[in-house]
Amino acid sequence: MEYQIPRGTYDILPAQSYKWQKVISAFRELAAAFGYQEISTPVFEQASLFERSSGDSSDVVKKEMYRFTDRKGREFALRPEGTAPVVRSYVENRLDIGSANAKLYYIGPMFRYDRPQAGRYRQFYQYGIEFIGSNNPYYDAEVIAILWFYLTGLGLQKLRLELNSVGCPKCSVDYDKALREYFKPHLPQLCPDCQIRFDQKPRRLLDCKVPSCKKIASGAPSQLDYLDAECREHFAAVQEQLSLMEIPFVINPRIVRGLDYYTNTAFEVIYEGLGAQNSLAGGGRYNALLEQIGGKSIPALGFAGGFERLLLALDEEKVSLGRPPVPDIYVITMGKAAQQLLLPYINRLRQAGIYAEYDPDKTSFKAQLKAADNSQARFALIVGEDELASRSVVLKNLQNGQQQTTPLEPLSELIAILKG
Ligand SMILES: [Zn+2]
Ligand SMILES: [Zn+2]
Repeated sequence: MEYQIPRGTYDILPAQSYKWQKVISAFRELAAAFGYQEISTPVFEQASLFERSSGDSSDVVKKEMYRFTDRKGREFALRPEGTAPVVRSYVENRLDIGSANAKLYYIGPMFRYDRPQAGRYRQFYQYGIEFIGSNNPYYDAEVIAILWFYLTGLGLQKLRLELNSVGCPKCSVDYDKALREYFKPHLPQLCPDCQIRFDQKPRRLLDCKVPSCKKIASGAPSQLDYLDAECREHFAAVQEQLSLMEIPFVINPRIVRGLDYYTNTAFEVIYEGLGAQNSLAGGGRYNALLEQIGGKSIPALGFAGGFERLLLALDEEKVSLGRPPVPDIYVITMGKAAQQLLLPYINRLRQAGIYAEYDPDKTSFKAQLKAADNSQARFALIVGEDELASRSVVLKNLQNGQQQTTPLEPLSELIAILKG
């Protein structure tokens, strides 16, 4: 084959697309019920937006970002995540003016140059929520609730919500100091990346995927022991709100978010049954991000999840997402006159939302009836010579074989039968 799909990407084929439509529309509906509105940003942005927000030293920026220079020498990047672009848009479009809080959601492809594996792709589709405008712990719980109710609403059961607080820049100073003290004697055993992390962002030492580093990191001090009074209080209030909302959670002090801008609440939803790639979605507060990319200091939080892993989990739990659409009617005509009579009616039915299948290449009755059966249509709509003369159609129920004759006019009667 001369042309092949790029490594780490995939086609959503027609036979699978109904599943995507289902999970996407379920997300849109739930987000709307919480008062969130969709925002769409371009798939590429100035590269510096992600360098500034994620941090130059993050893996995303250093190793995984698709960068390119345009014809005028400007540096761009395919977006590796959705939060920085949404916040860029919020600041640029002055969405802070007027309305108190911005409640936003997005759906779209993200790009990371990463080693492809099950549930992990170089172009992947994310759903995400961004809430901008308040530090009230209620909103931490609200954002988590959207994620939780989305996943449970789709039918997933083996879910675990993990919660942590990563503190604020103030209490991070003490924690970073404690981490350096802990890791210092282990420094020679750490991987080269961790050697750099030790100086720049000791917290990233907790996130290393190299097994020997992981083992050392497992004995590191917990963030939760280093929260200041304000952060402790916020964390307790978030837990209280979640309990009031009857959302079960466990505390996991090991959650570190991969990106620099997170403060306070951090959370992840784990699906037990997906092996190593078991995190379905994650998020947290990023009270420092808006100021970091040139806006006012406004508290915010959000989450993002990937549809690929979500669909794997739904498959693993054998949740049905419906099935590919089948025709309401399959049109069978005998002779050219019948065809010509029916054409405007077929389209009027389609305009009324009836899925009507019609194939002008098939002319024999037998071939058309066979095609109707294969299409799994509910009805065959048949027009032969008799029907042509009386301007009526035979509706044959393809499940039970029952037939009825119905006049073409008024068409509303036929539509009522088909929709009933
Ligand atoms: Zn703090
Ligand atoms: Zn390491």
